[in-house]
Formats: sequence, C-alpha cells, structure tokens
Amino acid sequence: MTYQHRYADNTPCALPVGKVVCVGRNYAEHAKELGNAVPAEPILFIKPRTAVTSLLQPVRVPPGQGACHFETEIALLIGSTLTQADEDTAREAIAGIGLGLDLTLREVQDALKAKGLPWEKAKAFDGACPLSPFVRPAPVADLANLRLRLQVNGENRQDGNSSDMLTPVLPLLVYMSRHFTLEPGDVVMTGTPRGVGPLLAGDAVRVTLGEDLLVVETRAV
Ligand code: ZN
Repeated sequence: MTYQHRYADNTPCALPVGKVVCVGRNYAEHAKELGNAVPAEPILFIKPRTAVTSLLQPVRVPPGQGACHFETEIALLIGSTLTQADEDTAREAIAGIGLGLDLTLREVQDALKAKGLPWEKAKAFDGACPLSPFVRPAPVADLANLRLRLQVNGENRQDGNSSDMLTPVLPLLVYMSRHFTLEPGDVVMTGTPRGVGPLLAGDAVRVTLGEDLLVVETRAV
C-alpha cells in the first residue's frame, strides 16, 4: 500500500512524502549503551522517501541481515520550507508530531562503522522508517518535555523524554536547516532514548507519545 502522511484525528493531510532527516546519539544514555561517545555536534543522516511506511501496517523485519533494532523516536512532520532557519520559523514549520521507528540493521551498521563507511545500507533500506499518524502541534504543551515509550510484547523497553535530548527540537531543526533544506512533507527524526534492541517477527509493538496523546499498536512480521 502506498504510504501517505496522515493525522491521528483523520483530518486531511495534503503534504507529500519527502525525505527523512535523522539525528544520531541525541540522548546521552543511548550513546552510552552502544559504547559510542557523546557527540560534540549533532550527527545527521537521511533516509529516503522509499524507507517510509506506516506504523499502522505490520513492520517488516528484513530477513537474513542480522539483528534489526527498534529505535523509537519523536517524529516531526514539516509543513513549510526551512533553509538557514531561526527557532521561531522552525516552530511555525512543524505541521505534526508523531512517533517513528528508526529501524537499524545493527550488525550491518557495526560492520560499516568499523570500516568508516556510510550507514545507508543499515538505516535507509525500504521500510526502515515506519511512521505513526501525526497529532497537530496545538495539543503538545511543551516540545521540550514530551514523553515517548515503546512496549514490546507488553514489556516496557524504551521510556524517554525530549527533555533529555542533547540538542532539543528547535535548535535541532535550526541546525539541520543549515545543512539540508527541509521541505513540506519531510520528516525529522529526533533521536532515540536508551533501551534499543532487536525486533523479531511476531513481536507485538506498542508506542505511546505523551501520556496518551497518541497510542499505536502494531506487530513485526
Ligand atoms: Zn535513531
């Protein structure tokens, strides 16, 4: 099924599907759990449009490529063009807030990292970015204090808060817009808190934004 962005309240969303701009190691505790240094500046990478799928559909784990890790992240739907933006412009450009999985073939990534090669094969494959429907920004009281959670088979695996981001949402959008123009329909993934782990076919997955702003249940296949 062709993916289109949608709002959780089922009001129409006319934005096209663009690229996904992501940040690595934006939570110190997650950098630590993978044995990575906390970066001095945001680490950016991009997933192409072909990586985007709906979290309302079953999440496909690529076969035969080693562990496929879930990384639960707050996802921002961009509604207007951002180039060399300031924080006010960045705030106005957020058309929706949701959750995404930055699926990562961890063994593939470790092998690429060891050779100093780019990560695309580990993070940009088809289906590597399942996205939830988006809530409109208005009900989000504070972007800098927003909880995100992941349960797998009923067990709490990730429970983070945007207050722990090394680069918070608005400075992150400003930083990204100095390197890549963000266009309407693009999505920004804001990094994952600690607790990442392998997703296995058959797993029941539940993600929650805020206390109950958005809850999505799906399964891995
Ligand atoms: Zn990530």
